[in-house]
Amino acid sequence: MEQQKLLINGRRLKETLERFADFGRTEKNGVTRLSLSEEDRKARDYFCSVCKDLGMTVKVDDMGNIYAALEGTEDKPPIVIGSHLDTVKKGGRFDGVLGVAAGLEIARTFAENHMKPRISLMVVNFTNEEGARFEPSMMSSGVLSGKFDKEIMINKRDSDGVSFDEALETIGYKGKDEFRLKEASAFLELHIEQGPILEQESLSIGVVECVVGMVCYEIEITGESDHAGTTPMTMRKDALFAANNILADARSKLGALDSDLVFTMGRMNVWPNIHTVIPNKVVFSLEARHKDPAVIQQVEQIIQGLPDFPSNEGCEIKAKKLWDRNTVWFDPQIVNQLEQSVKSLGYSYKRMVSGAGHDAQFLAGYVPTAMVFVPSIHGKSHCEEEWTPWEDCEKGVNVLLETVLNMQLK
Ligand SMILES: [Zn+2]
Repeated sequence: MEQQKLLINGRRLKETLERFADFGRTEKNGVTRLSLSEEDRKARDYFCSVCKDLGMTVKVDDMGNIYAALEGTEDKPPIVIGSHLDTVKKGGRFDGVLGVAAGLEIARTFAENHMKPRISLMVVNFTNEEGARFEPSMMSSGVLSGKFDKEIMINKRDSDGVSFDEALETIGYKGKDEFRLKEASAFLELHIEQGPILEQESLSIGVVECVVGMVCYEIEITGESDHAGTTPMTMRKDALFAANNILADARSKLGALDSDLVFTMGRMNVWPNIHTVIPNKVVFSLEARHKDPAVIQQVEQIIQGLPDFPSNEGCEIKAKKLWDRNTVWFDPQIVNQLEQSVKSLGYSYKRMVSGAGHDAQFLAGYVPTAMVFVPSIHGKSHCEEEWTPWEDCEKGVNVLLETVLNMQLK
């Protein structure tokens, strides 16, 4: 008979998540725990005290990232598990904290079974993933991976004029740069999906292969402002009519490219925005996301063809690329290991992509990294209604535990 698998304690995991939710819980059972706030400090203190009680060594780096290590018997780079404890304003009880609680629960499972890891186990909390108080998001993993400049980041200010550096000092979590995460055998991040796919397909686990690449353009249409009552329809250069034509055309062309492509015209400004004046300028954003760079390239060809768009209502059209980001592929070997763990546990799953950004995408730049998703009911996140069934949270952590246990084997 097959030996029974070691599993985590689902009830304890739930208690941990609810305990964290107490630090900033809102009236509607969501959480407001902005980065480096008093609520964040309390959540960090709780995290550190649990880790110390488990006999873990706790270190804090110069960005306030917290690392708690259960020392291994061999001198090897640690297996790192974690995510972020900060939330957006009126966010949920699962985004980020689930990945940290997963690490805690796995450390507890080791401790209660008197298991000493061969390879050190490290639980990490990355500072300011959300970017809700200090922009940009994924700030500290960005500094660790060399994507962001530290000096620029620590001087970022919140809406009250408080700098990141001052806030870090205030809550007492300014550590040393020598403690930064420099190497790891693996980084594993468990996160809620933040989309509707797993729930729709009645699956418990998503094994994430990549964070999709994206491209963002700004389209500017210039027409002429004239009196809305006196200018005949045939003599107008209406920038908003031109925008309307482009939107409809771009939607059908982009929509025909690939069923996995997502694209959004999320921001639009109209000038002069007065009901008696024909709009002379419209600026809107057009972003698109897909894992395959060839598809993104097709998107760009369509966008770059817009200045020659025939139904332009006599207006001038410009398309400016604001920025892009390549698809970040996770470590194929670890992705396979996670998939094997899911299979051996008998959970329903699929391989999928992440349309949202995560700390893991920066870590992947210098550490073998992969992610696991659990369902978001109705796809909701960054809101108080955010919800993931407890049993799916438990399954997600079991997948990580099983993977960690396999990595511990010689
Ligand atoms: Zn998150």
